Amino acid sequence: VPEQALTLTVVGSAPAWSRRPGHPSSCYLVELGDDAIVLDLGQGSLGALHAYREPSTIRAIAISHLHPDHHVDLVAFRHLLRYGYPEPRTVELHPPGELRARYDAFLGEPDFLELMPGPDLAPDTRHLGALRLQISAVTHAANSHAFRVSETGDSRAGLVYSGDCGRASDLLTLLRPGDTLLCEAYWGVHTPVPEAEHLTAADAAGVARDGRAARLVLTHVGEHHDPETARSQAAEIFSGPVLLAEPGLRLTVA
Ligand SMILES: [Zn+2]
Repeated sequence: VPEQALTLTVVGSAPAWSRRPGHPSSCYLVELGDDAIVLDLGQGSLGALHAYREPSTIRAIAISHLHPDHHVDLVAFRHLLRYGYPEPRTVELHPPGELRARYDAFLGEPDFLELMPGPDLAPDTRHLGALRLQISAVTHAANSHAFRVSETGDSRAGLVYSGDCGRASDLLTLLRPGDTLLCEAYWGVHTPVPEAEHLTAADAAGVARDGRAARLVLTHVGEHHDPETARSQAAEIFSGPVLLAEPGLRLTVA
């Protein structure tokens, strides 16, 4: 019996805003057979997700942190679940602490995300069908996390997603040799503003090298920070393949 592939599809990779039509913010679909997890659900991503998978068939959504470009399409997703089918549907949600309360305040409706039940994030490991989700805290805003998704049996490589992260070494907690590292590089080749807590392309490449990743995918690069130059610089530091996350990019992780 052939093993099923663990795949990553980039639904959206823009940071807080984009001027590019058809460029949603952070959203990554990870699939293994019938099981799927979505990591983040930034602006514009729910509509784009339909190109790859019927959203109510997703086993769980995990949200890396509280910044809206990583989750604001939860409003649209909740409406889809409530009104978009003959009967309301549910999808499991693993949100950072405080997120549910923020939606209740924003929408003026108690338990607005009730069709998306699930536990708040914590630094632990969760089994979601055939997929395993490992969660680790990272330096960024309050309640910020990185994720590793792998097959539950864990004999094969996985995907590590940085979320937003201001200290690259935080990712070494999750990263294993042979993994695909999907890493933010907001600053590209520019000098960081330290209090913004984002990485450069060189930071991302350094952690891919140190953690012996099989492949580095740069994402969340500011459009004014020249993603292609960022990719080139990362390739000088990390000897494996370096790709830019673009909507529609699909990779086999393992
Ligand atoms: Zn952020």
